[in-house]
Amino acid sequence: MLDIQTVRKDFPILTHTVYGKPLVYFDNAATTQKPRSVVEKISEGYYNVNANIHRGVHFLSQAATEAHEDARRTVQHFLHARSSHEIIFTRGTTEAINLVASCFSDEFLSAGDEIIISEMEHHSNIVPWQIQAAKKDIALRVIPIDEKGELCMESYRKLFSERTRLVSLTHVSNVLGTINPVEEIIRIAHSHNVPVMLDGAQAVPHTQVDVQALDVDFYVFSAHKVYGPTGIGVLYGKENRLDKLPPYQGGGEMIASVTFEKTVFNELPFKFEAGTPDYIGSTALAEALRYVKQLGLTAIAAHEQELLRYATERIQAAGQVHIFGRAAHKSSVLSFLLADIHPYDTGMLLDRLGIAVRTGHHCAQPLMKALGIEGTVRASFALYNTKEEIDIFIAGIEQVQTMFGKK
Ligand code: PLP
Repeated sequence: MLDIQTVRKDFPILTHTVYGKPLVYFDNAATTQKPRSVVEKISEGYYNVNANIHRGVHFLSQAATEAHEDARRTVQHFLHARSSHEIIFTRGTTEAINLVASCFSDEFLSAGDEIIISEMEHHSNIVPWQIQAAKKDIALRVIPIDEKGELCMESYRKLFSERTRLVSLTHVSNVLGTINPVEEIIRIAHSHNVPVMLDGAQAVPHTQVDVQALDVDFYVFSAHKVYGPTGIGVLYGKENRLDKLPPYQGGGEMIASVTFEKTVFNELPFKFEAGTPDYIGSTALAEALRYVKQLGLTAIAAHEQELLRYATERIQAAGQVHIFGRAAHKSSVLSFLLADIHPYDTGMLLDRLGIAVRTGHHCAQPLMKALGIEGTVRASFALYNTKEEIDIFIAGIEQVQTMFGKK
């Protein structure tokens, strides 16, 4: 069990007031707040261990290098990766997916090849593939969702063909909260000799991910959604998969030797890390993962599931509410519409009450089209949220309904 009141003290921003009301922060799927230890790690890094890494013989450079590589090992252990060489630091989920899309396409794709994605993808797992598709005339095959917001597994099975080259799917939907059956998805893909990339942006903050047990080929996530800093994220790839990909960008760090005639690329993971990396961000990410680990992902998930259950029950009782996403396995995301009230109106009125929710298409316009709506209101819960905050949120919902004459 988490001691939430103690946990909340680690997050100074949660004591803020907004328009004179206590902040209720329910926009965690967009980004999470940061514990003091993560913020301190950043300032401590700049105050005490700042020097460019990997190429310095001096003390500070070696200390900074050691901290950065130690952070890589922390990520490795967090994801249960076999080797730290399999952990590539990127700017975030988006850059990690772009890296794989670009490099995989360069090396392995030709006209007529097919990539399987799904109807519930974030734009960051659609657009990079479309960019490659336009260059090489490859096709996207899209798994539909059912009325509960779960992937149609029968359709998935039928999408495979001789030309299927990769399955690239979200682990957890940022709109519906659906936790996809990734073990089965991977098993099916591998039975066709097709590798799988999972977008773990919404999974890593809530579930224990074991890339070896999953046998997933590529796995990506962003630090800022798991209580870490912005601007850094991770691409995990099986060593033999990463080894076969060409570099993404050229520059310093990613080379073993350079002449005007020929460049020999560096080994993993540096081959994919051109330029000065965010070596302060990496240590702050590692601190965030330590923080989550110390609280325990099982305890975090149990707490968040209870918040989701409570919020779902209470919002349904408020009446005239349509919830989008009713998967059997769901993370702590509640997307909804109140009668015919525009989501922006609901979001803006809740904001005036100090309640931060997200409104709109949530970077998932194809999903909105499939649902036949323009957008939703999304409340997403994190480890520091409470039932008392949900009570405030429900009182806010009732106020919005009254204002629009829907009560
Ligand atoms: N994938 C999913 C499922 C997301 O929820 C998000 C962010 O909302 C992203 C990808 C993109 O993450 P980032 O903007 O940190 O690269």
